[in-house]
Amino acid sequence: MSIELLAPTTEVAEPPEILAEPRTLAHRELRRDDYWRALPGYAAVDADTFHTHTFQTRHTVTNVRQLSETLGGLAPESFYADVVAGLKRAPMALRISPYLLSLIDWANPYEDPIRTQFMPVASQQVKDHPELRLDSLHEQKDSPVPGLTHRYPDKALFLPLDSCPVYCRFCTRSYAIGGDTETVEKLKFTGRSQRWEDAFAYIESRPELEDIVISGGDTYNLSAGHIQEIGERLLRMPNIRRIRYATKGLAVLPQKILTDHPWVDALTRVVELGRTLHKEVVIHTHFNHPNEVTGVTQDALNRLTERGITVRSQTVLQSGVNDNASTMQLLVRRLSYVNIHPYYVYFHDMVPGVEDLRTTLAAGLKIEKFVRGHTAGFNTPSFVVDTMGGGGKRDAHSYEYYNRESGIAVYTSPGVKPGTFFLYFDPLKALSEAYQLRWQHAGARNEMIQQALAEARRAGR
Ligand code: SF4
Repeated sequence: MSIELLAPTTEVAEPPEILAEPRTLAHRELRRDDYWRALPGYAAVDADTFHTHTFQTRHTVTNVRQLSETLGGLAPESFYADVVAGLKRAPMALRISPYLLSLIDWANPYEDPIRTQFMPVASQQVKDHPELRLDSLHEQKDSPVPGLTHRYPDKALFLPLDSCPVYCRFCTRSYAIGGDTETVEKLKFTGRSQRWEDAFAYIESRPELEDIVISGGDTYNLSAGHIQEIGERLLRMPNIRRIRYATKGLAVLPQKILTDHPWVDALTRVVELGRTLHKEVVIHTHFNHPNEVTGVTQDALNRLTERGITVRSQTVLQSGVNDNASTMQLLVRRLSYVNIHPYYVYFHDMVPGVEDLRTTLAAGLKIEKFVRGHTAGFNTPSFVVDTMGGGGKRDAHSYEYYNRESGIAVYTSPGVKPGTFFLYFDPLKALSEAYQLRWQHAGARNEMIQQALAEARRAGR
Protein backbone atom coordinates (compact mmCIF):
# COMPACT_ATOMS: atom_id res chain seq x y z
CA MET A 1 0.00 0.00 0.00
CA SER A 2 1.41 3.36 -0.89
CA ILE A 3 0.86 6.43 1.21
CA GLU A 4 0.58 9.65 -0.65
CA LEU A 5 2.26 12.43 1.24
CA LEU A 6 0.82 15.86 0.77
CA ALA A 7 3.36 18.57 0.00
CA PRO A 8 3.46 21.14 2.81
CA THR A 9 1.57 24.21 1.75
CA THR A 10 3.46 27.48 1.58
CA GLU A 11 0.42 29.64 1.09
CA VAL A 12 -1.32 31.18 4.07
CA ALA A 13 -4.67 32.83 3.67
CA GLU A 14 -4.15 36.37 4.96
CA PRO A 15 -6.80 39.04 4.81
CA PRO A 16 -6.11 41.64 2.12
CA GLU A 17 -3.89 44.38 3.47
CA ILE A 18 -2.32 47.43 1.89
CA LEU A 19 1.39 47.15 2.62
CA ALA A 20 4.32 49.45 2.22
CA GLU A 21 6.46 48.24 -0.66
CA PRO A 22 9.57 46.90 1.15
CA ARG A 23 11.98 48.56 -1.26
CA THR A 24 10.27 51.95 -1.15
CA LEU A 25 12.29 54.89 0.10
CA ALA A 26 9.20 56.80 1.24
CA HIS A 27 10.49 56.74 4.81
CA ARG A 28 13.26 59.13 3.73
CA GLU A 29 10.85 61.74 2.40
CA LEU A 30 10.91 64.20 5.29
CA ARG A 31 9.04 67.49 4.95
CA ARG A 32 11.26 70.54 4.67
CA ASP A 33 8.82 72.95 3.02
CA ASP A 34 7.32 76.02 4.75
CA TYR A 35 4.17 74.11 5.72
CA TRP A 36 3.26 76.51 8.57
CA ARG A 37 2.73 79.40 6.14
CA ALA A 38 -0.54 77.79 4.99
CA LEU A 39 -2.02 78.75 8.38
CA PRO A 40 -3.16 82.41 8.39
CA GLY A 41 -1.75 82.97 11.88
CA TYR A 42 1.78 81.96 10.80
CA ALA A 43 1.73 83.13 7.14
CA ALA A 44 4.26 85.89 7.79
CA VAL A 45 6.58 83.84 10.03
CA ASP A 46 9.96 82.99 8.50
CA ALA A 47 11.75 79.67 8.99
CA ASP A 48 14.38 81.06 11.36
CA THR A 49 11.67 82.35 13.69
CA PHE A 50 9.29 79.40 13.38
CA HIS A 51 12.01 76.88 14.18
CA THR A 52 12.86 78.26 17.61
CA HIS A 53 11.64 76.81 20.87
CA THR A 54 10.72 80.30 22.08
CA PHE A 55 8.31 80.91 19.18
CA GLN A 56 6.81 77.46 19.60
CA THR A 57 6.32 77.86 23.34
CA ARG A 58 4.93 81.42 23.17
CA HIS A 59 2.42 80.51 20.47
CA THR A 60 1.25 77.19 21.86
CA VAL A 61 -2.52 76.93 21.44
CA THR A 62 -4.44 76.18 24.62
CA ASN A 63 -8.02 77.17 23.82
CA VAL A 64 -10.46 77.25 20.92
CA ARG A 65 -10.31 81.04 20.61
CA GLN A 66 -6.56 80.86 19.89
CA LEU A 67 -7.21 77.96 17.54
CA SER A 68 -9.70 79.92 15.45
CA GLU A 69 -7.45 83.02 15.48
CA THR A 70 -4.61 80.90 14.09
CA LEU A 71 -6.59 78.92 11.54
CA GLY A 72 -9.08 81.58 10.51
CA GLY A 73 -11.24 80.28 7.69
CA LEU A 74 -9.18 77.11 7.15
CA ALA A 75 -11.69 75.24 9.30
CA PRO A 76 -15.45 75.80 9.27
CA GLU A 77 -17.31 77.22 12.31
CA SER A 78 -18.90 73.80 12.80
CA PHE A 79 -15.43 72.31 13.41
CA TYR A 80 -14.68 74.78 16.23
CA ALA A 81 -18.06 74.02 17.80
CA ASP A 82 -17.27 70.31 17.55
CA VAL A 83 -13.95 70.84 19.39
CA VAL A 84 -15.65 72.94 22.11
CA ALA A 85 -18.19 70.13 22.67
CA GLY A 86 -15.43 67.49 22.50
CA LEU A 87 -13.36 69.23 25.17
CA LYS A 88 -16.36 69.23 27.54
CA ARG A 89 -16.20 65.43 27.65
CA ALA A 90 -12.43 65.02 27.41
CA PRO A 91 -10.11 64.05 30.29
CA MET A 92 -7.27 66.19 28.87
CA ALA A 93 -7.10 69.94 28.30
CA LEU A 94 -6.10 71.40 24.91
CA ARG A 95 -2.42 72.17 24.33
CA ILE A 96 -0.75 71.93 20.93
CA SER A 97 2.39 73.52 19.47
CA PRO A 98 2.35 75.64 16.28
CA TYR A 99 4.59 72.98 14.70
CA LEU A 100 2.09 70.15 15.24
CA LEU A 101 -0.82 72.39 14.32
CA SER A 102 0.88 73.15 10.99
CA LEU A 103 1.40 69.47 10.20
CA ILE A 104 -2.37 68.80 10.30
CA ASP A 105 -4.09 68.53 6.94
CA TRP A 106 -6.68 71.29 7.40
CA ALA A 107 -8.44 70.29 4.18
CA ASN A 108 -9.50 67.14 6.02
CA PRO A 109 -9.05 67.60 9.78
CA TYR A 110 -11.54 64.88 10.71
CA GLU A 111 -9.32 62.18 9.19
CA ASP A 112 -5.97 63.68 10.12
CA PRO A 113 -3.86 61.49 12.46
CA ILE A 114 -2.31 64.44 14.32
CA ARG A 115 -5.63 66.26 14.87
CA THR A 116 -7.10 62.95 16.07
CA GLN A 117 -4.49 62.63 18.82
CA PHE A 118 -4.57 66.14 20.24
CA MET A 119 -7.97 67.69 19.54
CA PRO A 120 -11.18 65.92 20.57
CA VAL A 121 -14.30 66.38 18.46
CA ALA A 122 -17.65 65.47 19.98
CA SER A 123 -18.90 64.02 16.70
CA GLN A 124 -16.33 61.19 16.92
CA GLN A 125 -16.48 60.48 20.65
CA VAL A 126 -18.15 57.22 21.68
CA LYS A 127 -19.49 55.81 24.94
CA ASP A 128 -16.87 54.39 27.31
CA HIS A 129 -16.47 50.67 27.90
CA PRO A 130 -17.97 49.99 31.36
CA GLU A 131 -14.64 48.63 32.68
CA LEU A 132 -12.56 51.74 31.94
CA ARG A 133 -10.87 53.45 34.90
CA LEU A 134 -8.93 56.64 35.60
CA ASP A 135 -5.42 55.56 36.65
CA SER A 136 -6.17 52.17 35.13
CA LEU A 137 -2.54 51.11 35.65
CA HIS A 138 -2.84 51.69 39.43
CA GLU A 139 0.18 53.99 39.45
CA GLN A 140 -0.97 55.72 42.63
CA LYS A 141 -1.54 52.42 44.42
CA ASP A 142 2.03 51.34 43.62
CA SER A 143 3.51 54.68 44.80
CA PRO A 144 5.44 54.50 48.07
CA VAL A 145 5.81 58.31 47.94
CA PRO A 146 3.65 60.68 45.86
CA GLY A 147 4.92 60.84 42.27
CA LEU A 148 7.15 57.74 42.47
CA THR A 149 5.78 54.42 41.19
CA HIS A 150 7.70 51.28 42.19
CA ARG A 151 6.18 48.26 40.46
CA TYR A 152 8.94 46.24 38.79
CA PRO A 153 11.59 45.01 41.27
CA ASP A 154 14.54 46.95 39.81
CA LYS A 155 12.80 49.92 38.19
CA ALA A 156 10.91 52.98 39.40
CA LEU A 157 9.04 55.78 37.66
CA PHE A 158 9.73 59.26 39.02
CA LEU A 159 7.23 62.00 38.15
CA PRO A 160 8.90 65.31 39.05
CA LEU A 161 6.26 67.50 37.37
CA ASP A 162 2.74 67.37 35.99
CA SER A 163 2.92 69.49 32.82
CA CYS A 164 3.88 68.75 29.20
CA PRO A 165 4.55 70.78 26.04
CA VAL A 166 1.43 69.15 24.55
CA TYR A 167 -1.58 67.35 25.97
CA CYS A 168 -2.30 64.03 24.30
CA ARG A 169 -5.89 62.84 24.30
CA PHE A 170 -4.79 59.26 25.04
CA CYS A 171 -2.66 60.10 28.10
CA THR A 172 -2.67 57.27 30.61
CA ARG A 173 -1.88 59.76 33.37
CA SER A 174 -4.98 61.87 32.70
CA TYR A 175 -5.68 61.60 36.45
CA ALA A 176 -2.87 64.10 37.06
CA ILE A 177 -1.50 65.75 33.91
CA GLY A 178 -2.50 69.22 32.72
CA GLY A 179 -5.23 71.51 33.99
CA ASP A 180 -8.57 70.31 35.38
CA THR A 181 -11.20 69.56 32.75
CA GLU A 182 -14.98 69.40 33.06
CA THR A 183 -14.75 65.64 33.65
CA VAL A 184 -11.53 65.26 35.68
CA GLU A 185 -10.25 67.15 38.70
CA LYS A 186 -6.54 66.40 38.53
CA LEU A 187 -4.34 65.07 41.27
CA LYS A 188 -1.76 67.83 41.85
CA PHE A 189 1.93 67.04 42.31
CA THR A 190 2.46 69.79 44.89
CA GLY A 191 5.23 70.49 47.42
CA ARG A 192 7.93 69.98 44.84
CA SER A 193 11.19 70.20 46.79
CA GLN A 194 10.06 67.98 49.68
CA ARG A 195 8.42 65.54 47.27
CA TRP A 196 11.59 65.26 45.21
CA GLU A 197 13.68 64.73 48.36
CA ASP A 198 11.28 61.99 49.52
CA ALA A 199 11.59 60.30 46.11
CA PHE A 200 15.42 60.48 46.14
CA ALA A 201 15.51 59.14 49.70
CA TYR A 202 13.27 56.21 48.77
CA ILE A 203 15.31 55.35 45.65
CA GLU A 204 18.54 55.46 47.64
CA SER A 205 17.10 53.27 50.38
CA ARG A 206 16.17 50.44 47.99
CA PRO A 207 19.30 48.58 46.85
CA GLU A 208 17.29 46.54 44.33
CA LEU A 209 16.44 49.70 42.33
CA GLU A 210 18.79 50.13 39.36
CA ASP A 211 16.67 51.77 36.67
CA ILE A 212 14.82 55.10 36.99
CA VAL A 213 12.46 56.58 34.41
CA ILE A 214 12.15 60.34 34.88
CA SER A 215 8.82 61.25 33.36
CA GLY A 216 5.88 63.41 34.35
CA GLY A 217 4.43 65.25 32.75
CA ASP A 218 7.30 65.61 30.43
CA THR A 219 10.96 66.23 31.17
CA TYR A 220 11.04 68.79 28.30
CA ASN A 221 9.33 71.11 30.80
CA LEU A 222 12.12 70.75 33.37
CA SER A 223 14.64 73.60 33.39
CA ALA A 224 18.24 72.93 32.36
CA GLY A 225 19.21 73.19 36.04
CA HIS A 226 16.65 70.57 37.06
CA ILE A 227 17.65 68.20 34.24
CA GLN A 228 21.19 68.30 35.59
CA GLU A 229 20.24 68.22 39.29
CA ILE A 230 17.99 65.17 38.95
CA GLY A 231 20.37 63.34 36.62
CA GLU A 232 23.43 63.87 38.83
CA ARG A 233 21.59 62.98 42.06
CA LEU A 234 20.46 59.68 40.56
CA LEU A 235 23.72 58.78 38.83
CA ARG A 236 25.70 59.31 42.04
CA MET A 237 23.56 56.76 43.90
CA PRO A 238 25.60 53.52 43.95
CA ASN A 239 22.54 51.35 43.23
CA ILE A 240 21.43 53.25 40.10
CA ARG A 241 22.76 51.87 36.79
CA ARG A 242 20.36 53.36 34.21
CA ILE A 243 18.27 56.48 33.88
CA ARG A 244 15.87 57.50 31.13
CA TYR A 245 14.47 60.95 30.50
CA ALA A 246 10.95 60.51 29.11
CA THR A 247 9.76 63.24 26.76
CA LYS A 248 7.32 63.56 23.94
CA GLY A 249 9.04 66.83 23.11
CA LEU A 250 10.98 65.47 20.14
CA ALA A 251 7.67 64.84 18.35
CA VAL A 252 6.03 68.08 19.47
CA LEU A 253 8.75 70.67 19.58
CA PRO A 254 12.01 69.33 18.08
CA GLN A 255 13.12 72.98 17.74
CA LYS A 256 14.07 72.94 21.45
CA ILE A 257 16.97 70.58 20.72
CA LEU A 258 18.26 73.03 18.10
CA THR A 259 17.83 76.34 19.91
CA ASP A 260 17.66 75.73 23.68
CA HIS A 261 21.40 75.28 24.09
CA PRO A 262 21.53 75.38 27.93
CA TRP A 263 18.96 72.55 28.10
CA VAL A 264 20.80 70.33 25.59
CA ASP A 265 24.13 71.08 27.25
CA ALA A 266 22.72 70.11 30.67
CA LEU A 267 21.42 66.84 29.24
CA THR A 268 24.77 66.21 27.56
CA ARG A 269 26.61 66.76 30.85
CA VAL A 270 24.42 64.13 32.53
CA VAL A 271 25.03 61.68 29.66
CA GLU A 272 28.78 62.29 29.90
CA LEU A 273 28.73 61.84 33.67
CA GLY A 274 26.88 58.56 33.11
CA ARG A 275 29.54 57.46 30.66
CA THR A 276 32.31 58.32 33.15
CA LEU A 277 30.52 56.32 35.84
CA HIS A 278 29.79 53.48 33.37
CA LYS A 279 26.04 54.07 33.62
CA GLU A 280 23.45 54.46 30.88
CA VAL A 281 21.50 57.67 30.25
CA VAL A 282 19.01 57.70 27.34
CA ILE A 283 15.92 59.54 26.11
CA HIS A 284 12.60 57.75 25.72
CA THR A 285 10.27 59.54 23.38
CA HIS A 286 6.94 58.99 21.76
CA PHE A 287 6.01 59.13 18.05
CA ASN A 288 2.75 57.70 16.75
CA HIS A 289 2.54 58.58 13.06
CA PRO A 290 5.08 59.03 10.23
CA ASN A 291 3.79 62.61 9.63
CA GLU A 292 5.29 63.56 13.03
CA VAL A 293 8.81 62.91 11.70
CA THR A 294 10.03 65.83 9.54
CA GLY A 295 13.25 67.45 8.42
CA VAL A 296 13.47 69.38 11.69
CA THR A 297 13.09 66.12 13.63
CA GLN A 298 16.06 64.79 11.69
CA ASP A 299 18.09 67.94 12.45
CA ALA A 300 17.29 67.58 16.16
CA LEU A 301 18.18 63.89 16.15
CA ASN A 302 21.43 64.64 14.33
CA ARG A 303 22.37 66.95 17.17
CA LEU A 304 21.57 64.32 19.78
CA THR A 305 23.51 61.72 17.80
CA GLU A 306 26.53 64.06 17.70
CA ARG A 307 26.27 64.25 21.50
CA GLY A 308 26.18 60.46 21.73
CA ILE A 309 22.61 60.39 23.11
CA THR A 310 20.50 57.29 22.44
CA VAL A 311 16.79 57.80 21.75
CA ARG A 312 14.07 55.15 21.86
CA SER A 313 10.41 55.58 20.93
CA GLN A 314 7.23 54.22 22.47
CA THR A 315 4.18 54.34 20.24
CA VAL A 316 0.51 54.11 21.21
CA LEU A 317 -1.67 52.10 18.85
CA GLN A 318 -4.72 54.24 18.05
CA SER A 319 -7.73 53.81 15.84
CA GLY A 320 -7.66 56.25 12.93
CA VAL A 321 -4.02 57.14 13.61
CA ASN A 322 -1.79 54.13 13.07
CA ASP A 323 -4.00 51.03 13.19
CA ASN A 324 -2.94 49.63 9.84
CA ALA A 325 0.15 47.75 8.73
CA SER A 326 1.42 50.21 6.13
CA THR A 327 1.38 53.20 8.52
CA MET A 328 3.13 51.25 11.24
CA GLN A 329 5.72 49.90 8.81
CA LEU A 330 6.43 53.42 7.53
CA LEU A 331 6.65 54.79 11.08
CA VAL A 332 9.15 52.13 12.13
CA ARG A 333 11.35 52.68 9.05
CA ARG A 334 11.21 56.49 9.38
CA LEU A 335 12.08 56.47 13.08
CA SER A 336 14.99 54.12 12.43
CA TYR A 337 16.16 56.39 9.59
CA VAL A 338 16.52 59.38 11.94
CA ASN A 339 18.25 57.29 14.65
CA ILE A 340 15.29 56.63 16.93
CA HIS A 341 14.89 53.02 18.02
CA PRO A 342 11.26 51.88 17.83
CA TYR A 343 11.01 50.18 21.20
CA TYR A 344 7.37 49.54 22.12
CA VAL A 345 3.93 49.72 20.54
CA TYR A 346 1.44 49.95 23.38
CA PHE A 347 -2.15 48.89 23.05
CA HIS A 348 -4.21 51.87 24.15
CA ASP A 349 -4.70 51.97 27.91
CA MET A 350 -8.16 51.48 29.37
CA VAL A 351 -8.71 55.13 30.29
CA PRO A 352 -12.07 56.90 29.99
CA GLY A 353 -13.00 59.64 27.54
CA VAL A 354 -11.03 58.38 24.52
CA GLU A 355 -12.81 55.19 23.60
CA ASP A 356 -12.89 56.22 19.94
CA LEU A 357 -9.09 55.75 19.89
CA ARG A 358 -8.92 52.17 21.14
CA THR A 359 -8.45 49.17 18.87
CA THR A 360 -9.05 45.48 19.46
CA LEU A 361 -6.27 43.18 20.59
CA ALA A 362 -6.81 41.16 17.37
CA ALA A 363 -6.24 44.24 15.18
CA GLY A 364 -2.93 45.03 16.88
CA LEU A 365 -1.72 41.44 16.76
CA LYS A 366 -2.35 41.39 13.03
CA ILE A 367 -0.37 44.62 12.50
CA GLU A 368 2.50 43.20 14.54
CA LYS A 369 2.84 40.29 12.10
CA PHE A 370 3.42 42.73 9.26
CA VAL A 371 5.87 44.91 11.15
CA ARG A 372 8.07 42.04 12.34
CA GLY A 373 10.46 41.18 9.54
CA HIS A 374 10.04 44.50 7.75
CA THR A 375 13.36 45.78 9.13
CA ALA A 376 16.14 44.71 11.49
CA GLY A 377 15.08 43.03 14.72
CA PHE A 378 16.64 45.67 16.99
CA ASN A 379 14.49 48.30 15.26
CA THR A 380 11.32 46.23 15.57
CA PRO A 381 9.05 47.30 18.44
CA SER A 382 7.47 44.87 20.89
CA PHE A 383 3.69 45.10 20.95
CA VAL A 384 2.64 45.22 24.59
CA VAL A 385 -0.45 45.54 26.75
CA ASP A 386 0.13 47.55 29.93
CA THR A 387 -2.32 45.66 32.06
CA MET A 388 -5.08 47.29 34.05
CA GLY A 389 -4.56 46.95 37.78
CA GLY A 390 -0.76 47.15 37.77
CA GLY A 391 0.42 43.87 36.23
CA GLY A 392 2.87 45.82 34.09
CA LYS A 393 3.61 45.38 30.40
CA ARG A 394 2.85 42.02 28.85
CA ASP A 395 3.80 40.84 25.39
CA ALA A 396 0.45 41.21 23.61
CA HIS A 397 0.64 37.62 22.35
CA SER A 398 1.12 36.15 25.82
CA TYR A 399 -2.53 36.16 26.89
CA GLU A 400 -3.82 33.13 28.80
CA TYR A 401 -7.19 33.49 27.12
CA TYR A 402 -8.76 35.75 24.50
CA ASN A 403 -12.34 35.67 23.27
CA ARG A 404 -12.80 37.81 20.16
CA GLU A 405 -16.59 37.76 20.53
CA SER A 406 -16.81 39.12 24.07
CA GLY A 407 -13.57 41.07 23.55
CA ILE A 408 -12.05 39.87 26.84
CA ALA A 409 -8.36 38.99 27.15
CA VAL A 410 -6.78 37.61 30.31
CA TYR A 411 -3.09 37.95 31.17
CA THR A 412 -0.91 36.86 34.06
CA SER A 413 2.21 38.61 35.28
CA PRO A 414 4.13 36.15 37.46
CA GLY A 415 7.23 38.37 37.62
CA VAL A 416 5.27 41.33 38.98
CA LYS A 417 2.15 40.06 40.76
CA PRO A 418 2.14 36.26 40.83
CA GLY A 419 -1.22 34.51 41.16
CA THR A 420 -3.23 37.44 39.77
CA PHE A 421 -5.20 37.69 36.54
CA PHE A 422 -5.26 40.94 34.57
CA LEU A 423 -7.93 41.84 32.06
CA TYR A 424 -7.95 43.78 28.80
CA PHE A 425 -11.16 44.59 26.93
CA ASP A 426 -11.70 45.28 23.25
CA PRO A 427 -13.76 48.42 22.55
CA LEU A 428 -17.49 47.75 22.38
CA LYS A 429 -17.81 49.37 18.95
CA ALA A 430 -15.85 46.41 17.51
CA LEU A 431 -18.19 43.76 18.95
CA SER A 432 -21.41 42.35 17.51
CA GLU A 433 -24.67 44.03 18.53
CA ALA A 434 -25.56 41.03 20.67
CA TYR A 435 -22.34 41.31 22.67
CA GLN A 436 -22.64 45.10 22.93
CA LEU A 437 -26.04 44.53 24.52
CA ARG A 438 -24.64 41.97 26.97
CA TRP A 439 -22.03 44.49 28.13
CA GLN A 440 -24.80 46.92 29.08
CA HIS A 441 -26.10 44.61 31.85
CA ALA A 442 -24.06 44.23 35.03
CA GLY A 443 -25.09 40.60 35.50
CA ALA A 444 -24.19 39.52 31.96
CA ARG A 445 -20.96 41.49 32.20
CA ASN A 446 -19.91 39.72 35.35
CA GLU A 447 -20.83 36.36 33.86
CA MET A 448 -18.64 36.98 30.77
CA ILE A 449 -15.70 38.09 32.91
CA GLN A 450 -16.03 35.11 35.31
CA GLN A 451 -16.21 32.75 32.35
CA ALA A 452 -13.06 34.28 30.83
CA LEU A 453 -11.22 33.93 34.15
CA ALA A 454 -12.33 30.28 34.46
CA GLU A 455 -11.03 29.58 30.95
CA ALA A 456 -7.72 31.28 31.79
CA ARG A 457 -7.39 29.16 34.94
CA ARG A 458 -8.07 26.01 32.91
CA ALA A 459 -5.48 27.04 30.31
CA GLY A 460 -2.88 27.64 33.02
CA ARG A 461 -3.16 24.19 34.56
S1 SF4 B 1 3.33 63.94 26.78
FE1 SF4 B 1 3.07 62.01 27.90
S2 SF4 B 1 2.47 62.62 29.99
FE2 SF4 B 1 2.18 64.42 28.63
S3 SF4 B 1 0.03 64.32 27.98
FE3 SF4 B 1 1.25 63.25 26.41
S4 SF4 B 1 1.20 61.09 27.05
FE4 SF4 B 1 0.58 62.32 28.83
